[in-house]
This record gives sequence, structure tokens and C-alpha cells, in this order.
Amino acid sequence: RRQALMIYKDQPSQTRDGHQVTLLANVGNLNEISHVTDVGAQGIGLFRTEFLLMNAKALPNEQQQYKLYSDALHSLQGEILTIRTFDIGADKEIPCLAQNNEENPALGIRGIRYSLANPDTFITQVKAILRAAKHGQVRLMFPMVSQVEELEAAFLLIEHAKAELNQQQKGFGNLSYGIVVETPAAVLNLPSMLPLLDFVSIGTNDLTQYTLAADRTNPHLAKQYPSLSPAVIQLMVITINHCKQANVKVSLCGELGSDPQVLPLLVGLGLDELSINPANLLDVKVALIEGNYTKFVNHAQHIALLTRITDIRKAINVFALDGD
Ligand code: PEP
Ligand code: MG
Repeated sequence: RRQALMIYKDQPSQTRDGHQVTLLANVGNLNEISHVTDVGAQGIGLFRTEFLLMNAKALPNEQQQYKLYSDALHSLQGEILTIRTFDIGADKEIPCLAQNNEENPALGIRGIRYSLANPDTFITQVKAILRAAKHGQVRLMFPMVSQVEELEAAFLLIEHAKAELNQQQKGFGNLSYGIVVETPAAVLNLPSMLPLLDFVSIGTNDLTQYTLAADRTNPHLAKQYPSLSPAVIQLMVITINHCKQANVKVSLCGELGSDPQVLPLLVGLGLDELSINPANLLDVKVALIEGNYTKFVNHAQHIALLTRITDIRKAINVFALDGD
């Protein structure tokens, strides 16, 4: 099957009626990077850097990280690399880092909260990324941002990182900046944050967890509290509308994007980009290439009115069968 799909690898990623959607890959380890170009992804839409730390004895220093990010850029051969700063905390435990024992880690010091509480770790990573950005197109993305003060604090640290690099006479490149939208607060606070951003990416895994108050690691909840819940879909609609109004590119990097049956809904809602597990990318691309944007939009408008998960699932299955 994989072999049969390869004929789609170099085809333009657009619907029959010419609506283009950028298809990027989610990457969680260095081995996966080579698959990204194999499946014809237009780059990496989510590089989960905390995975570099999972088996590390110590935090990689600036030079080691610089090499890592530069190598990733080189193997991408000019395609875009979206680096998410360390998303430490919650279910992502990092043995080599000091982490507080928290009663509710998913609601604790994770993502950007950890970075702002540990500015040295953040600045080291940002310096490495800024330096690597000389070698290609790099976008920087912050996890778990929910309000504008966090963004402002992060940008202040980035200025600090740049000043240090200048002082050390180390060259660096340009970055564009985005956040993972993964809390309901982030969705509602977008109007204050969008002026500071070049793109946003909807993280449906956490957005689902935090909207439905359902632990993403609890298998007893997955079925009843899925990303295809009407509440999560409404938050996606609000996010996309805010981004369109502000003329900011809007992407999705949660697991939901890796399901080819869900592609018509996501594209019909107006997402500009999807970041997908490399193993699913070509299946998703087929769903895009064989579909019709006008029909996707009608389908998405229909689903946005549905109030039951079962009805949403049914509508998606029916559309996948006959495309109407
Ligand atoms: C998400 O939360 O949807 C996401 C893409 O990030 P992660 O799964 O790494 O938390
Ligand atoms: Mg997340």
C-alpha cells in the first residue's frame, strides 16, 4: 500500500478544484526526519524538541543543540522547520531536568510556563535555534501559551538571547513566531496575541484535554471525550476566524490531522496547513487530492451545526464514503 501511495508524493497538495493546503510532518525523533522528505511533506510542522531530552543524561548545551537543529535543517533540503520549544511537564517527564513534584502536572508548570520559570534553559535553546536559522527556514513555536503576558515575557528572553549572541559574535538568522493553541484561554485570548504572531497551530490533543477536562492519558475517557466533540470543533472555528481576520496563517498539529477521513472537515473549516504523522501523510494527501474544496466547506458548515458526537462521526463516515 505504501508503495502504491508513493505516486502521490510529488503531486501538488491541492484539491481537484485547486485549493492548496500545506502538508507538513510531525517529528518526535531524529530518525523520523529522513522519512519527512520520503513522503513528500513540505517540511516539519511540529518538531517536538523535548524528545531530545527523554533519554539524555544531561541537558544538551547550546553547541550540541545548534548541531542538532542544523542537521535537521540540512536533511530538510530547504523545506520549512517548525521547532517547538521544550514542552516539559505534564505527561512528558524528563529525567535529566529538575521538575517539581506537582499534584496536577497537566495543570502545572509545563510548556512555556516551565520555560519562563527556567529562563537559562529557554535562552540556551533559543540561542541554538537562532544560530541554526542561518541555514534554512525556521519557525519557532511556543507550547501551552494562554495569555499575552507569557508571549511578551518569551519575546523579552529572545531579545536577551540575541544580545548574548551579538556580544559573543555568533551569527544568527531570522525566525518567524507562533504558538500552539491548546487551551480554551488561548483561543479566547487570540485577538491580543495575534499581532505578535506569524502563525498559530491548533494542538487538538491538549485542546481536547483542557476543553473537556478529560486527561489525555486516561484510556477510559478517550472514546467519550474525543477531539471530534462539538465544543472542540467550535473552538477550532473561533481560532480560524480570529486568524483569518488578523491575516495570520493557521495550522493544526494534533493527532486529529492524521486521520484522512477528517481531512474534509479540517480543510473545509479553513485551515491553511496540517502537520501530520509521517506514516499517515500520503493517506491524508490522497483525501485532499481526490476531494473538492466547495464540498469540503459545505461539509464543515454542516458539521459545525451538529451537537452530538455520534452525529458528527456519522457525517464524517458518510462523507468519506461518497464525498457528499
Ligand atoms: C497537541 O497538544 O495537540 C500537540 C500537538 O502537542 P503534544 O501532543 O506534543 O502535546
Ligand atoms: Mg500539546
